[in-house]
Amino acid sequence: MSNLLGRHRAVMPSWLSLYYEQPIEIVSGRGRRVTDSDGRTYLDFFAGILTTMLGYDVPEVREAVERQLRTGVAHTSTLYLIRSQVELAEQIAALSGIADAKVFFTNSGTEANETALLLATNARRSDQVLALRNSYHGRSYGAMAVTGNRGWKNSSLSPVNVHYLHGTDRDRFPHLSDEEFLAFCADDLRQVLATATATDVACLIAEPVQGVGGFTVAPDGLLARYREILDEHGILLVSDEVQTGWGRTGEHFWGIQAHGVTPDVMTFAKGLGNGFAIGGVVADGALMDALPANGISTFGGNPVATAAAKATLDYLLAHDLQANARRLGRLLVDGLRTAVEKLPVVGDVRGRGLMLAVDLVDPDGGAPSPALAARVLEEAKRRGLLIGKGGLHGHTLRMAPPLTLTEDEATEGLGILVDSLTAVC
Ligand code: PMP
Repeated sequence: MSNLLGRHRAVMPSWLSLYYEQPIEIVSGRGRRVTDSDGRTYLDFFAGILTTMLGYDVPEVREAVERQLRTGVAHTSTLYLIRSQVELAEQIAALSGIADAKVFFTNSGTEANETALLLATNARRSDQVLALRNSYHGRSYGAMAVTGNRGWKNSSLSPVNVHYLHGTDRDRFPHLSDEEFLAFCADDLRQVLATATATDVACLIAEPVQGVGGFTVAPDGLLARYREILDEHGILLVSDEVQTGWGRTGEHFWGIQAHGVTPDVMTFAKGLGNGFAIGGVVADGALMDALPANGISTFGGNPVATAAAKATLDYLLAHDLQANARRLGRLLVDGLRTAVEKLPVVGDVRGRGLMLAVDLVDPDGGAPSPALAARVLEEAKRRGLLIGKGGLHGHTLRMAPPLTLTEDEATEGLGILVDSLTAVC
């Protein structure tokens, strides 16, 4: 392993960050567990940043991919018809709740958001875009431009003009009631629109629960309040469902449903392929058709990725994994609250389905503590549990196990997490 790490450092960019003081090489996986090259097995509570939605080595997905590979065609081109792509698009269009929806497939969430920005800015003939503070939408020029966290930007050059809105910074306004906070956000949006440098604004892009931003939840109803104002101006609403889609948040199939609104555009990626590279955009058909040239990649929705995605989606729906996310998410958030909320280093415990977060703070003064988060991450790994971190200051522990998690595994992971927090703090 150490040899591989040395070779990685020698030949790959220094900014390609690796988790852990001793990074691990995962060589196999089954269910919710992975094994590294030293033969150590871990319970996976991060699922490749929510990518391995069903867990590892799912026969239905493996067989679908093998079947496609046996045809000899991994990919030809999107110039030819691809049956599994059309079938998957039909399924996603129907699930989206968007009327007369059409779907375009990409290879990643970044490309999906880039496409969504293209759709919106072209349709509205405007380079003015709204985004939420502390957001993460990817690292291409457009996706990076609407990412509201400087730490994830490689460039301050931007193809769009972005105005950042309040919403997921609820905790900065403790003196306001929930209703007052929503009114404050609505007023903020009106102010931004009144002072925007162009008369037309293309869209608002938002994550219903910010992923990289630390599983920070947009207060329920916020996007409905925003939507009312957007509608007055014909501004489009784009929901980035890369982390919140497919039932992950438990209560809803799409994260934005917590706000009681249907967006004009949704983007998705990650979990859909259960590890195979796929992303996409679903949007109102007329809006989708209005793009003047072509989609942004000829490779998105290739037959192997769409075979994997179709098998994943079929499995997810047949096993009602949304209900599992809801049930075990509650168990985990309640368990965490009971066990660790009172620790002086714990600033907040929150969860939406199987997106669970613990903020770590300095016990003297309450400042966000990325150092403590890093230590808990190491300790959990030592005890056999993989988790993630994130948040504006890197002080948030993020837990997002595969949606196929069992109750026994939930209890086991919770136990390790609580022990790790108590040991370090
Ligand atoms: N949007 C969100 C909400 C994400 O969490 C991510 C990835 N972390 C992206 C977009 C970008 O997706 P990808 O890494 O597949 O390009």
